Amino acid sequence: MPESRGRIRIWDLGSGLPLAGIRDFLQETFGPAIPCSPPRRLLPDARVPALARALLAWRVSDPGRLSSPGGGFTRSQLETMARVLRGESDPAERLSCPVSGPGLASALGAFVPSNFDGGTRHLVFTSVLPVTWDAPDCRYHARSVICAFPSVVSTSGAVEGPARPRALYVARMMGLTEDEARKKYIGRYLEHGDGRLAEVAKGLAAQAVFYGLTGQPFCEKESCRLFNARWQEQLVDAQVGSGRFCEQHLRFLKGLRRP
Ligand SMILES: [Zn+2]
Repeated sequence: MPESRGRIRIWDLGSGLPLAGIRDFLQETFGPAIPCSPPRRLLPDARVPALARALLAWRVSDPGRLSSPGGGFTRSQLETMARVLRGESDPAERLSCPVSGPGLASALGAFVPSNFDGGTRHLVFTSVLPVTWDAPDCRYHARSVICAFPSVVSTSGAVEGPARPRALYVARMMGLTEDEARKKYIGRYLEHGDGRLAEVAKGLAAQAVFYGLTGQPFCEKESCRLFNARWQEQLVDAQVGSGRFCEQHLRFLKGLRRP
């Protein structure tokens, strides 16, 4: 058996994803050096309001202004966040409560069991929308994966993070309605509830595990599962079209399995 490199634990937080298949992918990719536990719900219903309160402290109300944690929130916002955490929200609700990515990981750290035991890599799959501040751009951007302790894979982030095709914006400028433009470019970008999110989430989870192993979650090759896509088409191509790792990362994975 190869030397143990810790284990992966998978937590569901209202992601709506088929996590058993994602677990199998991670086990095939990294095992047997890194065993991957079966997915479990992160929280019982009774603890959801406590996490919702913790996350609302990190809510970003204006994407164009750097916000500090600790702002107040309304009862309605608390109920909305709780629905997001239970996986009962609609897309508009998910987009209404973006949370600072580092804040999200920090708040989740208090809810993930045995977070600091040696070598366990916790992955939380959620529909909460994480955002991070981009200093040169002076605004928050949505993120599909937050590499931290625990790491977070977000379905909302995969839909909202990478930009949609330029042609879609041009079509809107040329007078097409949102619905017409959507029909014209359907399939070229992810939508909320998109069946391809399950496949995309596998690669995002692999990025988080690579971060834990090497400190480097991303790859420059566009056909690699670890490619940090800026555009939706790149994300879909890398994760669904290619669905493979590049030669360099395949070699790394082979080395990981070597006794
Ligand atoms: Zn690669």
